[in-house]
Amino acid sequence: MEYRRLGKSGLQVSALSLGSWLTFGNQIEDKVADELMSIAYEQGVNFFDNAEAYAGGKSEIVMGNILKSKSWDRESFIVSSKVFFGAEPKGVNRVGLSRKHVIEACHAALKRLQVDYLDLYFCHRPDKDTPIEETVWAMNTLLQQGKILYWGTSEWSAYEIREAIAVAKEYHLIGPTMEQPEYSMIERNKLENEYSMLFRDHGIGTTIWSPLASGLLSGKYNDSRPDDTRFSAIKSLGWLENKRLTEENIEKARKLKAIADELGTSLPKLALAWCLKNPHVSTVILGASKTQQLKENLTALDVVGLLNDDVMAKIEEVLQNKPEA
Ligand code: NDP
Repeated sequence: MEYRRLGKSGLQVSALSLGSWLTFGNQIEDKVADELMSIAYEQGVNFFDNAEAYAGGKSEIVMGNILKSKSWDRESFIVSSKVFFGAEPKGVNRVGLSRKHVIEACHAALKRLQVDYLDLYFCHRPDKDTPIEETVWAMNTLLQQGKILYWGTSEWSAYEIREAIAVAKEYHLIGPTMEQPEYSMIERNKLENEYSMLFRDHGIGTTIWSPLASGLLSGKYNDSRPDDTRFSAIKSLGWLENKRLTEENIEKARKLKAIADELGTSLPKLALAWCLKNPHVSTVILGASKTQQLKENLTALDVVGLLNDDVMAKIEEVLQNKPEA
């Protein structure tokens, strides 16, 4: 496993990490979640991603039970939570980024995950109804109390992240260390364009999500709609299925599969390696509903070296979506 610094921070995060959205406490049995975490940990994955909202809080409960049952040193892994969408049951002060919810959500996540502190704590989305000062101060209160070690954002605009950094500077507080954006061959703008100055000026780290565009870039939708996927298992995901499995995207996946074949690798490994090649990616968060998927994805680092200029140009020709600076 390769380890990368989380931006300019001193924290070393495995280049491949494991997330639990849609899977833990939802699509998969707890036994499979346990197997996935064990496989990942044994392969050197040190970061497990979670959020208060995943499966309404169940995802953190499942992960917490697994962490408790293992004899892993607390120092050997990094675990995250995210605040904003709320766990179940929702309530007027159980969502958003007010001081009350940021702090109460942290306490609830610590309980569900059965840990004394969160390594990473993300604002899952920006909150237009809370002054940014309130959120930055709340995060710093938790930092001072040792309940979180680093705080960051997810899907914030570059402008919003800059605002948080400016507020932190003004009050001599600690600003966001990392952002969690979507990044894949299909979704590129934030990481490759919008955040460029943040990387240059502030050394923000990134923990990127949906690197396979929800499975599209595994190539399994190239010829048919298999019936053992997240889209068949979770009926409320129609919006995501419609967004990802467009004819245009599937056509790209078919052409990318041909490039992977030429290189003697698989499409998911090629797609993950392509993300890993970007130096602004601190860690690629993998999702998996089956142990076989995770085992395959964990070998993607072997493919990064195959991505020379010619191969990258061929990929670019297929994608036709390079963001304009
Ligand atoms: P991906 O886009 O990589 O999708 C993962 C899914 O693709 C798997 O669950 C599986 O789904 C399928 N898959 C994975 N590997 C293979 C393979 N080798 N062959 C065939 N199919 C495969 O990532 P996710 O969308 O799951 O996101 C990863 C993590 O990112 C989440 O768990 C979460 O931690 C984080 N995230 C954060 C968000 C945020 O707003 N901050 C939003 C979304 C995710 P299937 O069951 O269909 O086979």
